[in-house]
Amino acid sequence: MTMHIVVLGAGYAGLGAAKRAARRLRGTEVRVTLVNVSDRFVERVRLHQLAAGQELPRLPLRGLLAGTGVELVVAGVTGIDLGARVVRLDAAPYEVGYDLLIYALGSGADLDAVPGAAGHAFTVATEGEAARLRSRLAGTARSVAVVGGGLTGIEAATEIKEAHPGLEVRLVSAGPVGDGLSATARRHLHRALRRLGVTLDEHTPVAGITAEGLLLGDGRETPADTVVWAAGFRVAGLAAAAGLATDGHGRMLVDATLRSLSHPEVFGAGDAAAARVAGGRSRMSCQTGLPMGLRAGDAAADLVTGRDPRPARIRYVWQNISLGRHDGVTQFTRADDRPLGAVLTGRASARFKEAITRGTVWRMRHPGPYRPHA
Ligand SMILES: Cc1cc2nc3c(=O)[nH]c(=O)nc-3n(C[C@H](O)[C@H](O)[C@H](O)COP(=O)(O)OP(=O)(O)OC[C@H]3O[C@@H](n4cnc5c(N)ncnc54)[C@H](O)[C@@H]3O)c2cc1C
Repeated sequence: MTMHIVVLGAGYAGLGAAKRAARRLRGTEVRVTLVNVSDRFVERVRLHQLAAGQELPRLPLRGLLAGTGVELVVAGVTGIDLGARVVRLDAAPYEVGYDLLIYALGSGADLDAVPGAAGHAFTVATEGEAARLRSRLAGTARSVAVVGGGLTGIEAATEIKEAHPGLEVRLVSAGPVGDGLSATARRHLHRALRRLGVTLDEHTPVAGITAEGLLLGDGRETPADTVVWAAGFRVAGLAAAAGLATDGHGRMLVDATLRSLSHPEVFGAGDAAAARVAGGRSRMSCQTGLPMGLRAGDAAADLVTGRDPRPARIRYVWQNISLGRHDGVTQFTRADDRPLGAVLTGRASARFKEAITRGTVWRMRHPGPYRPHA
């Protein structure tokens, strides 16, 4: 009987996994199917650019899969029956059976984090949400409050202010902005925010969102006609609902070879899975998602060909933050994500990040042998 590997999600992790498995198994009877809710690859790391008004390259999945033998199913995954080894879909063929499953459904914005976020906030977490924010910024917006002092919030606030200098933009962070960066990197970040005219509210927890703006933890209010929620991602409940072992946030728990701790016929990769890395569990990032996907594809191919999957070596190298189109800060890190002294700033960092982002899409076209950050 023909073996069937099914990959759920065609983001950085899932697309890499499907292409890698198909490439390793070329010439065999094994089928590889990739299921994704849309027929395009979305460069999530550029969604703040889309929100600010820039056009993103169109990357149809059929083009990226041409010649690989991977079958594409465009449908939303609604459930997984682990006993029957069947994935349920919201469109034809409505269900698909598997022998090995790679779960890589990514993440979205955590709009249940505070009251009112789901009803009033915009996000840059998905293409649809970023496009909705883009229309608002080009239309009636006058004052924008971006909530979240991490990488996504910083990138969104600076990109929006650079593209719309007439808008009042503030960045609101529960702790220090860019927490975890070195002092040098944070100094540059503060300079860039001042240069662009982004108002910074640090140590300002947000307790709720209304149609008028932010309700702060200390009872004060900050008016804003447009609130962007960028204070963390969360994963869909599908893995937990199916009965896969998950952590407290619903991320699938995987071993060193990225196999589920509860169901060894299922692999997890990208934001949707929590892998052990130096210093804890993998941080949601493209930087870990792409290598996890490639390794999951390798591991599935190993199993099919009777090899023992090798442990994935997931490590960090940098945090690469854009500050508009012409400035940035690249914080080089230890393998466990702790900052080193080395920092690249300004135009050189912006160019470096653009090269890395383009290079990532190149890797999506040519998922060759994986060597960590070769
Ligand atoms: C604005 C922004 C900037 C970022 N910048 C950086 C950065 O500079 N560096 C970095 O490392 N990371 C960055 N990230 C994080 C990075 O984008 C994610 O960590 C990365 O996309 C995770 O890859 P993934 O493949 O796990 O998930 P995704 O890229 O989210 O892909 C998941 C795929 O699954 C599909 N899908 C989801 N649910 C279903 C379903 N039910 N049925 C079918 N298909 C489904 C989605 O449509 C998508 O195609 C950024 C994120 C954002 C939003």
